[in-house]
Amino acid sequence: MPRIEPSSPLPPSLYAETARQSEPLPSFTGEARASVAIIGGGFAGLSAALHLAELGVDVALLEANEIGWGASGRNGGQVNPGLKHSPAEILRDYGENLGARMIALSGMAPDLVFSIIEKHGIACAGRRGGTLRAVKTIKQADAAKHLTDDYASHGAPVKYFDAPEVAARTGTPYYLGAMFDPRGGDVNPLGYARGLAMAAQRAGAKLYTGSRVQALARAGNGWVVSLACGTLHAEHVVLCTNAYESGLWPGLARSMVPVFSMIAASEPLSMKLAATVMPARSVLYEQADITVYFRVDDGNRLLMGGRSPSRDTSNRRDFRYLLAYAQKLWPASQDVDWTHFWNGQLAMTADHYPHLHEPAEGVIACLGCNGRGVALMTAMGQQIAARILGARTEELAMPVSGIRTIPLHAFWPAGVAARVAYGRFKEAIGL
Ligand SMILES: Cc1cc2nc3c(=O)[nH]c(=O)nc-3n(C[C@H](O)[C@H](O)[C@H](O)COP(=O)(O)OP(=O)(O)OC[C@H]3O[C@@H](n4cnc5c(N)ncnc54)[C@H](O)[C@@H]3O)c2cc1C
Repeated sequence: MPRIEPSSPLPPSLYAETARQSEPLPSFTGEARASVAIIGGGFAGLSAALHLAELGVDVALLEANEIGWGASGRNGGQVNPGLKHSPAEILRDYGENLGARMIALSGMAPDLVFSIIEKHGIACAGRRGGTLRAVKTIKQADAAKHLTDDYASHGAPVKYFDAPEVAARTGTPYYLGAMFDPRGGDVNPLGYARGLAMAAQRAGAKLYTGSRVQALARAGNGWVVSLACGTLHAEHVVLCTNAYESGLWPGLARSMVPVFSMIAASEPLSMKLAATVMPARSVLYEQADITVYFRVDDGNRLLMGGRSPSRDTSNRRDFRYLLAYAQKLWPASQDVDWTHFWNGQLAMTADHYPHLHEPAEGVIACLGCNGRGVALMTAMGQQIAARILGARTEELAMPVSGIRTIPLHAFWPAGVAARVAYGRFKEAIGL
């Protein structure tokens, strides 16, 4: 289980250098009262805080480390629409009404991100070059064409690109095709998280960093949130700790698998290379069991992401396969210098859907980004706010479910390793 030391520093990511500095925030001390206590300063918690504060709700957000310290400040920066499942699968699993709302929420989630960025003037290099979901085998290409039709039948502005079009957009002939979704884009994720925090604060939310919640207890009609140096009383508690959940609520940490993913970032590419590597500045992720994802940022740096050892690392040796992968895609990148290496944890759920739970009166928990949380967790924060403001569960665009622990959870590191090995095997034989 991941352990959080109080106030751990940010990992040595590119974003720690390039994101706009945040204003210093206090640690929580003493005794206070709020209508809503939000635990976790990532996209889910920050978006919930912003949406609640904008409607005049008295919110306090408690973050154990810094704003964006978790996956939100470390990710690939891809603002991708959609859920892990296809629209047809979502309708099959949740029926026409809820399913249609889930498809709409996840499809429009990038719109929400970019509208928040615009409304609050967040300086986070937001761009809208679209998302490529790229394929490497004929079987995957058939599935991607089918998926494109499925999305299009729900009004999504997607297109299927054959190999030449993908090569023109990416500068590599490596892919057989891709589904292109123009709703996607990219951001500097730490900059976006910090901007959300400032917007929430301006709207009246109280934010505390270096404030690790140690325990929750029921008291009368409300909750007592205990920290090392203080106590917060609240009517509602919202847990947005995602993969960094460390046992605050029974069973929550065992309802997901905290999977590591890693990113290597290059020095700014030369003008010549910058014009040939991802020239359309779309973001790309591979449709695969073990996905590789990449983009070129606003400073012309190439960011390559993919599977990671199941431990914290910024050791260049662990990232060699990503650098080799970049060279395979763009042989001219062989002399590029790689300057930043970091990783982080994302929460995978057994059914690959994000989970919204209400395990007790006045408590909401949200986790399970399944690797696509920049847009989705922003949208989930908005759903949480709507629920606290009185929306019925049937009106939400995500199901509220009971916490289901994953059987044999203790063996997840072995399970992840087996899945990686299986993914590599399938790739090797062209499946
Ligand atoms: C390497 C990597 C690459 C990724 N790439 C992409 C991508 O390109 N596109 C995309 O859409 N998604 C991506 N993701 C997923 C995305 O980053 C996450 O879905 C999203 O950031 C989750 O946001 P969150 O608010 O739910 O959780 P987090 O951002 O993880 O925030 C949880 C916070 O809770 C805090 N916390 C935990 N326990 C306590 C406590 N007891 N008290 C107080 N605070 C506590 C933690 O310190 C942490 O800051 C990636 C993830 C990783 C790790």
